[in-house]
Amino acid sequence: MLAALLTQRTSLRVIAIDRDTQVYPLPRAAHFDHEIMRLFQQLGIADEVLRHARAAPAYEFRNSKGETLLRYDLESRTSRSGWPQSFMFHQPGMERALRGLLSANPNVELRLGRSFVSLAERDDAVLARLEGPNGNENIRASFVIGCDGASSSVRDAIGVELDSYDFDEPWLVIDTIPGPSSRVPRVNLQICDPERPTTCVLMGPGRHRWEFMLRPGERTEDVLKDDFIRARLAPWDCADIEIDRRAVYRFHGLVAKQWRRGRVLLAGDAAHQMPPFAGQGMCAGLRDAANLAWKVSALLRGADETLLDTYQCEREPHVRATIELAIYMGRVVCTTDPKAAAERDRTMLAARARGEVQPSPPAPPPLARGLILEGTSAAGTLFPQPWSPASGQIVKLDDVLGSDAWLIGRDCECADISTMPVPVRVRPLDHPDLEPFASTLDEWLATQSSNAVLVRPDRYVFGTGHAKALVSAFGAAQTAKESASSDR
Ligand SMILES: Cc1cc2nc3c(=O)[nH]c(=O)nc-3n(C[C@H](O)[C@H](O)[C@H](O)COP(=O)(O)OP(=O)(O)OC[C@H]3O[C@@H](n4cnc5c(N)ncnc54)[C@H](O)[C@@H]3O)c2cc1C
Repeated sequence: MLAALLTQRTSLRVIAIDRDTQVYPLPRAAHFDHEIMRLFQQLGIADEVLRHARAAPAYEFRNSKGETLLRYDLESRTSRSGWPQSFMFHQPGMERALRGLLSANPNVELRLGRSFVSLAERDDAVLARLEGPNGNENIRASFVIGCDGASSSVRDAIGVELDSYDFDEPWLVIDTIPGPSSRVPRVNLQICDPERPTTCVLMGPGRHRWEFMLRPGERTEDVLKDDFIRARLAPWDCADIEIDRRAVYRFHGLVAKQWRRGRVLLAGDAAHQMPPFAGQGMCAGLRDAANLAWKVSALLRGADETLLDTYQCEREPHVRATIELAIYMGRVVCTTDPKAAAERDRTMLAARARGEVQPSPPAPPPLARGLILEGTSAAGTLFPQPWSPASGQIVKLDDVLGSDAWLIGRDCECADISTMPVPVRVRPLDHPDLEPFASTLDEWLATQSSNAVLVRPDRYVFGTGHAKALVSAFGAAQTAKESASSDR
């Protein structure tokens, strides 16, 4: 994702390295949200990803008696991006769509089957050493970004430690292809049964996932056997199911203490890991990519290095809020003490009866610090993407305006944007491009009591107010050595 975003409409050259030659074969992510679909849309692969995805149904937590403790109605709400709120998907299909994009991109060189081994930092570059089938390779790069997963060698190479949430639970994960006579649930389920906490969720079309928490003493080599798996699936009335993939994982909550050291950065699981109960680990990594891509591009076009300091200070609070939500959900599900489970059931059923439960999981917090114009309305929130029917087909704002930053307003008279490291597309509300969306955007500006909005390339709002002031603040934030909001 990062390689694809970095090279979108820029001449940057990216080398993407993976020690494996194929996409990861074992079951992992099954859910992503609308913001991630918006990134696939930006890269032009939404339709291809949709072949491996479907809109997520409701998400229910039930107790061992089948009573509903918590229910999130994901289907009934359209998101800020215009897409369904959430999707269930088959990760290898999505990853192949991304790889296909890279192999057709002349600015990305894919070096597969090579392992990153070590690095040395220089003032103006990083020297990285790889080991491959033909021996060692050396790379000199402006930046190295370690998206090398939970056991990141790049993280080790820069000596960064992890901060732990002390969550550590072993689970068996089974991906299946149900046959025609199987009757699998139509909603996503967490079965909060203290005897055997269980997850049962949809995946991409024609696929279904089960996850079973392991009991003390159950060994990986035993639980991966067909007999054990078939016995767990027996109550689900799906005898003709094909077991596609299986794995045992320990679910953790971890955050790297430092996400950047000089010209070396961390993203994805290398920077943070979370249990899967909120379906957000991969989403968090892809948000990292979206946050980093435009900043790294801007740096190579003359922005000040302090721009990169806004990466961790923007992303970490978002990631921590998501980890805390996932751990909260995990603790609800993973309760194995029958007394504690009974108490949990009483509390949650009472809260539900009183109508105290939100209809959807809490949204992650808006960016509170970083490259935003703090104090202006909607700064740090995800800008909406209106969809509109035009000439018989649906048009979407991002497709019309493209991947630069945007200045949208009633009055767009502004300072000089020509020398700005981050290109800005200026569009007054009466511009023909905005015709299908003008009333929605006008309404949005009215809600913010603002004349104009400046939207960053990752679609987060930089700030609202008057066009001229927005543009000069955006320019200053990219070039000032000591910008007010990049004090980390
Ligand atoms: C059971 C389970 C369910 C999950 N469900 C969800 C979900 O529904 N939604 C969600 O958003 N997330 C989910 N996640 C989390 C998600 O799978 C991960 O957060 C995500 O895949 C991490 O992506 P990554 O690119 O950061 O790391 P990885 O996918 O681990 O990729 C790291 C890559 O780096 C390569 N690499 C490692 N070391 C080196 C080296 N030294 N040199 C070269 N290459 C190297 C590896 O080969 C690998 O390809 C789930 C995870 C699990 C385990």
